Amino acid sequence: MSISYQVLGKPSEDNALLVHIDSGQKIDHLLFDCGEKCLKNVPVGTVQKIDHLFFSHLHMDHIAGFDSFFRINYNRNTRLNHIWGPPQTARIIQHRFQGFMWNLHESMSCPWIVSDIYPQEYISYRYELKEAFSVSHHIQTSQYQEKLFETNNYEISVLTLDHRTPSLAYLIREKPSSNIDIQKLKALGLESGPWLKEFKELKEGYVVSSSGTSYSFKELRKSLLIETPGDSIAYLTDFLADKQTIKKLTGFLNNCQTIVCEAHYRNSDIELAMRNYHSTTGLTASIASKANVKKLVLIHISDRYDLGQYREILNEAKEIFPSSCFSKEWKL
Ligand SMILES: [Zn+2]
Ligand SMILES: [Zn+2]
Repeated sequence: MSISYQVLGKPSEDNALLVHIDSGQKIDHLLFDCGEKCLKNVPVGTVQKIDHLFFSHLHMDHIAGFDSFFRINYNRNTRLNHIWGPPQTARIIQHRFQGFMWNLHESMSCPWIVSDIYPQEYISYRYELKEAFSVSHHIQTSQYQEKLFETNNYEISVLTLDHRTPSLAYLIREKPSSNIDIQKLKALGLESGPWLKEFKELKEGYVVSSSGTSYSFKELRKSLLIETPGDSIAYLTDFLADKQTIKKLTGFLNNCQTIVCEAHYRNSDIELAMRNYHSTTGLTASIASKANVKKLVLIHISDRYDLGQYREILNEAKEIFPSSCFSKEWKL
């Protein structure tokens, strides 16, 4: 079980995040935002495998690369096409779907699901390629409390932030995995075998050791299973980092391994940050510090700063949160 990620887009250009969650049996690929040129260096085969596309919000710099994603996947039937975002995502994405001439696709069945996420519910709509995406089919309204959905391997939570429009922070947490302590197994005189697979899940059952001692599955689970916490990563960008938001994020991101977060403005430009509902290097670093995260990756630096200032920008963050860095893809 592991999570790996790539920050997409260059310094001072549009950024996005591609996350890979490897369960050992399968890999899930999640894309967060899709700004201009963000998919430029992502192989087509990887884009075809993206399971979910999540938008923080729909300002141009976060959706301008959507056509590249859609061009590759518009008729994809190998997996569900699911897009998530704040309120009005369905309306805006439907316009994007309809921004092309569709006159050869009446026989092709390919549904797209788009979900508008509100603070405690999300509303999902279905669009069909064969209908040239002309109809917005309401399919369901679902309630949630922070946790948007879960799979066998991970869960994804969401928090609405304020960018003078809702901007969504996403948090992925892998589920803990449990492994068998082989040393203890041997010490109890037990042989490994197919029963070990069963005993993890079966409530009742027992096994007899080489010395004739009988152990119930229940007591063995307590002594033999080592629980390893899962990895975690969060993506958050474009938000006003006022006191109330910092407090909310401290709880939401608590103990997260990695957060990938905007630092659009330098500390000296805090007035601009407040006016434009953005964060600063210092505020972002203090969120990482208060939430006790392991690592902070700074993204979405304003193009008002040239590359020569990036070292100072990083130092501003490191003064508050030493485990701050830029993406290795940026090669700075
Ligand atoms: Zn924005
Ligand atoms: Zn932005």
